[in-house]
Amino acid sequence: MTEQAKIKRPEPLQAVKGMNDILPADSVRWEWFEAKVRALMARYGYANVRTPIVEPTALFVRGLGEVTDIVEKEMYSFEDAMNGDKLTLRPEATAGIVRAMIEHNTLYNGPLRVWSHVALFRHERPQKGRYRQFHQIDVEALGLAGPDVDAEQILMCRALLRDLGLADTDLRLELNSLGQPAERRAHRAALIGHFEAHAEVLDDDAKRRLHSNPLRILDSKNPLMQPVVEAAPELMDFLGPESLAHLNAVRAALDAVGLSYRINPRLVRGMDYYNLTVFEWVTDRLGLPLTVCGGGRYDDLFEQLGGKPTRAVGWGMGIERMLLLLEECGIQVPQNSPDVFAVVPSAAAMAAAVATCEALRSAGLSVLMHAAGGESWGSMKTQFKRADASGARFALVFGDDELARGEVTLKALRDAGVAQRCLPLAETARWATELRTA
Ligand code: ATP
Ligand code: MG
Repeated sequence: MTEQAKIKRPEPLQAVKGMNDILPADSVRWEWFEAKVRALMARYGYANVRTPIVEPTALFVRGLGEVTDIVEKEMYSFEDAMNGDKLTLRPEATAGIVRAMIEHNTLYNGPLRVWSHVALFRHERPQKGRYRQFHQIDVEALGLAGPDVDAEQILMCRALLRDLGLADTDLRLELNSLGQPAERRAHRAALIGHFEAHAEVLDDDAKRRLHSNPLRILDSKNPLMQPVVEAAPELMDFLGPESLAHLNAVRAALDAVGLSYRINPRLVRGMDYYNLTVFEWVTDRLGLPLTVCGGGRYDDLFEQLGGKPTRAVGWGMGIERMLLLLEECGIQVPQNSPDVFAVVPSAAAMAAAVATCEALRSAGLSVLMHAAGGESWGSMKTQFKRADASGARFALVFGDDELARGEVTLKALRDAGVAQRCLPLAETARWATELRTA
């Protein structure tokens, strides 16, 4: 046995459970989706913001509420080994954005519409559409109080779904109002009474939350508790005239554009910061009903986090779930194929091929060059196979004979009607432009 054969290769490492790699074959879909999102944000006048992945743990405890699934059991929290600071990988986007706006006084000059593409972390049980690292498009309108902007946010979502090629029937909109704090307090007392009367069916989570945050019980996914949850008093019946007027104004705007929705009085969201309008876009096309996008108004969060009173509304769309849905609906995504694949039969042609490929790229073409070197150069057959697999429209062959005449051979790989021909290297810029527009 040789020395080398005796060295044992270490076990390869694996990604953390519930955290996915986005490989080149998948990233085409991601980039296509992201381009649609960027175009949408430009149309609606939303500016991009990027805040850190790591935030002080206190931000989420204060912002989302101590008695929520996320804060109680889903956060990746740790101590900074250098200074003992308590830190958390962000489990949601809004709190960090609000923190940044307060810290930099970004709203000094009036309201702001922002969006962000975020990686989020929640220690959940991984399953289809539920991961421990996942991604969201997050959209926030800050410093705006009216129902008009609530409607704008909902409609942006519909516009994006349409831009992505989904039919209006692939998702449905659910809408509710969580009213104002005083209305929720009255409802809360009624809820506690109701659940106390059915204490025997409450699970441990629900019992623990009964007095601290009974609204959370309505968000329970425990099927055994559903009958009691269904029979619980509805917040809608506790709303005063102002909250109802806000809801009705949102409805009027949605009706005006012909967007249908269902009022779902059971709809509560996973964070405590919401008030008035809340909404979710739900799909039935992935087996169980699955929420793809959720949002609502959070008029008190700025103050809770130490800022000036600032009304705000926002939503988050789960990108992985969105991509699953697009796939399920058979929506095709254009592939990123190069324009040209350079076939280089021998090492002698390498320098000329590199120079020509650079000139083509300067002219705006996308070019993939056969780059073998090392032990074997790669036969013409192999190179043409790769050219074909790359999806390129053209192969450019840098054969010795052609190069000796100052030419290369152009072969169409996709368009059957285009004949093979020789092109002069001295006029690369001219035919590069022709190929680009061909
Ligand atoms: P769910 O009720 O499904 O747990 P949620 O109410 O916790 O969702 P939000 O915090 O409102 O979700 O986030 C908005 C969107 O982000 C969801 O509608 C979903 O598309 C996506 N999302 C939430 N949690 C996950 C996760 N663990 N993995 C993948 N996507 C997620
Ligand atoms: Mg959740």
